[in-house]
Amino acid sequence: MASASESTNATGSAVRRPKAVRRRDELRRAVAAFRASGQTVGLVPTMGAVHAGHLSLVEACRTECDVTIATLFVNPTQFGPGEDFAQYPRPLDADLEAFGRHGVDLVFMPDTEEMYRPDHQTFIEVGGVSEAFEGEGRPGHFRGVATIVLKLLNVAAADIAYFGQKDYQQSLVIRRLVEDLDLPVQIRVCPIVRDPDGLAMSSRNVYLSGQERRQALALPESLARAEEQITAGERDADVIRQAMTEHLERAGLDVQYVALVDSGTMTSTHTVTGPTVALVAAKVGKTRLIDNRIIG
Ligand code: AMP
Repeated sequence: MASASESTNATGSAVRRPKAVRRRDELRRAVAAFRASGQTVGLVPTMGAVHAGHLSLVEACRTECDVTIATLFVNPTQFGPGEDFAQYPRPLDADLEAFGRHGVDLVFMPDTEEMYRPDHQTFIEVGGVSEAFEGEGRPGHFRGVATIVLKLLNVAAADIAYFGQKDYQQSLVIRRLVEDLDLPVQIRVCPIVRDPDGLAMSSRNVYLSGQERRQALALPESLARAEEQITAGERDADVIRQAMTEHLERAGLDVQYVALVDSGTMTSTHTVTGPTVALVAAKVGKTRLIDNRIIG
């Protein structure tokens, strides 16, 4: 295990902080030492503003791997022009504390120049699964995601990497990347963690006013409705999507897409016959939120 340091938090109690490294070569050396001593290494990539969703990935990693490495990196290449890269929350101390409390052994927190040198010229394009929905609404987003995930996997040389179902399409893009490029890592996708009222946890929820947060509940509600309809025997995807869209619009949301897709390929479903994923993206005020539910 990596060495950790102790400090005190606002209430004066001792907090175990994981060892944190900023440079790729430091991470490589640490991972090489873990592996040389026969330990398995798990990786939990995050952009920080840590919440219980991120921590569920940490828990899953700790149950399977000897060493848990989390990353904190707000990846500029996955944000489009006009998106929230500059304002994305970066509560570094709280993140390190949260990771420490949950038993993360090592945090990799490079700055932008460490991951993208000024002469960086190589990007990864995943095809098919990345094209619709998030790929269409956020051009270049998955190119940035695939590039940073490949770079993190290369530097961390983990046995297993953990991602959330919250970003369902992203999880398929990453599985495709790993399979197509023969990467020697296993991918785990962990269930969505929700607040008690049903809203999927997201670092972007801090942008919501009280009123917007109530409106945002229409996302999980619309997914629950889709499941109810399917359970009741509805098979026509257009009928289900229409009901979901109406529910979101009634709550005052700006709907970006409402989709029912095949769970493995992200292709749109016309008639629900097998395992289906319902996905929604909508803006609540200025904040763009996504959510999904696996049905059947
Ligand atoms: P992010 O920091 O938003 O890039 O997320 C880092 C990882 O945490 C990604 O694999 C996300 O899918 C996952 N994640 C984010 N929110 C949740 C959530 N509510 N439940 C489970 N996993 C999540």
